[in-house]
Amino acid sequence: MKAEVVSMKADKLDMEAIRRGGDILKQGGLVAFPTETVYGLGGSGLCSEAVRKIYEAKGRPSDNPLILHISKREELDAIAARIPETAEKLMDAFWPGPMTLIFEKTKAVPYETTGGLDTVAVRMPSHEGARQLIESAGVPVAAPSANTSGRPSPTTAEHVKEDLWGRIDMIIDGGLVGIGVESTIIDVTEETPTILRPGHI
Ligand code: AMP
Ligand code: MG
Repeated sequence: MKAEVVSMKADKLDMEAIRRGGDILKQGGLVAFPTETVYGLGGSGLCSEAVRKIYEAKGRPSDNPLILHISKREELDAIAARIPETAEKLMDAFWPGPMTLIFEKTKAVPYETTGGLDTVAVRMPSHEGARQLIESAGVPVAAPSANTSGRPSPTTAEHVKEDLWGRIDMIIDGGLVGIGVESTIIDVTEETPTILRPGHI
């Protein structure tokens, strides 16, 4: 597999590279990209085959569910069956940003993505390049951290390359990413929201 690495400054997006990355994702390929937390290993979250490739590249057990990344609030309607009032409030306050919400899933989301669960994890990253890439892909992007299982989550494209080169189609190098801490995960499927994983927020 011939992979390419493209460099991109956070304040100067390379729209041509983003379009190519979006095409790779559309076609079921894998693209590593910067987010505000860590580098993500992206694949189409609605395509079972792409999701299987993510698990394989990372050596991640396939019952460990993935988070879907969206670029706009409207994209949520296709993947979340019900959007409770508490979720609306949390999204207004913390999206885009490092907060993941758990919803009941729609049929559009394959069980490969959710590790067999009837719920789906969703977040909207605040990283501008990440959101542009997701928008260009035209589908929610499943993106766990871009490292093989057991390794630390990468905060530079160099780390991603050392670890995953040869198993992915493209790396978007956005330099050192900000937080290095994962997103906070909140389950909003029950009356009372529950924090499942503490994170940056
Ligand atoms: P990450 O490893 O940062 O990509 O986050 C994935 C983690 O999100 C999983 O290991 C779960 O802890 C959590 N997660 C993803 N989907 C769900 C879900 N449907 N229900 C509960 N937790 C989830
Ligand atoms: Mg990780």
